[in-house]
Amino acid sequence: MPEMSETVALEAVPVSKGWEDKAARITTITPVLARVGKRNQLLVKLVTEDGLTGWGESGLSGRERAVSAAVDHFAAFLEGQDSRKIGRIWQECYRSQYFEGGRVLTAAISAIDIALHDVLGKRLGVPVYQLLGGRQRDVIPTFASTMGQDRQELLEHTHKLIHAGWDCVRIYPSNFDRGEVYSPRTSLPEIADDLKAMREAIGHTVTLGIDLHHRLSVAEAASFCNMLPSGTLDFLEEPIRSEAPDAYAVLRGMTDIPFAVGEEFSSKWQAAPFLEKGLTQFMRLDICNIGGFTEAMKVAGWSERFYVDLMPHNPLGPVCTAATVHLAAATPNFSWLETRQSPVENLGFHDTGIFPEQVQLEGPVYVVPDSPGLGVEVDEDAITKQDPTHVEAPHLRRPDGSVTNW
Ligand SMILES: [Mg+2]
Repeated sequence: MPEMSETVALEAVPVSKGWEDKAARITTITPVLARVGKRNQLLVKLVTEDGLTGWGESGLSGRERAVSAAVDHFAAFLEGQDSRKIGRIWQECYRSQYFEGGRVLTAAISAIDIALHDVLGKRLGVPVYQLLGGRQRDVIPTFASTMGQDRQELLEHTHKLIHAGWDCVRIYPSNFDRGEVYSPRTSLPEIADDLKAMREAIGHTVTLGIDLHHRLSVAEAASFCNMLPSGTLDFLEEPIRSEAPDAYAVLRGMTDIPFAVGEEFSSKWQAAPFLEKGLTQFMRLDICNIGGFTEAMKVAGWSERFYVDLMPHNPLGPVCTAATVHLAAATPNFSWLETRQSPVENLGFHDTGIFPEQVQLEGPVYVVPDSPGLGVEVDEDAITKQDPTHVEAPHLRRPDGSVTNW
């Protein structure tokens, strides 16, 4: 043992490199801009020296070119590294620019991290969930959404979904998107009446939620909650923006409706106050935004500690769906995974021909794939046949001309 006053040069410590494997080194990491259905996605293709290919997806739809540039930055120092050092690679990407974190960077990290898990699963010949502790459930339950144009259609859609086996239905009110003007005072009473009619029609055995797309102020959100008799809603998704946890704390004290928040979180640090202060009752993390499997598993564990179930965000493509299915398979505290393919809605992300192999929805559940990796194949020729011209999300305004969230 050295004396306390002595220092030991790090170079002097013998380090075994025997666990490294040149064949597993990353050869290329390529951002791939793809039109998948109605939106563009930023996929990431990762190839290793021994010819394995992994795919990832970033969740920052609409600003995918910014993520693409971040992936290029990361590729510059990741190529040549051992693809199996997934946790270390996460740390190096997150912290390498000194100015750590932020949604653009973690969307890029997410895609790379998912691709690394895909490759490792293929290398070991196991599905990704085996890398996460193994399966905890047979299938992955989903919730479906309805964007019915009026109350009659909302009720028709809901009955159709229940008949097809869904036990959780979320409405995304269509009066959000009638033109570019959004007026809470016009919209909210109409939605509240729709929800009361839906609850009366379906009883309490079906879980009913609504996504308000963080368009409201605290006062507007509280007002909306007060329009609903207790028990009408089982979850209220994103009534306000999530940058200010203390604002959520104020709203939390004004209503007893459970909240579902988290699709925009880009780290465990953003999720932490929502769990520690009881500000969300469902964790809506998006594995393609929060930092891939590496970060999502940490947030899942932290959610379990607070008896909060995951209800992951999943409105994009088959790579995100597959990654989330593996996450859900390996997580004990899980409720429903968002699906956007159902008898009443299909955003067209799954039937583009780009993904000849992908996770399958059977009735209201996703089947957990047992093939090595994610269980997704990508047809790169099919990507080149699509036109990834930029798609800008709607820019909504209030009746007075000011900006509000889409
Ligand atoms: Mg949402």
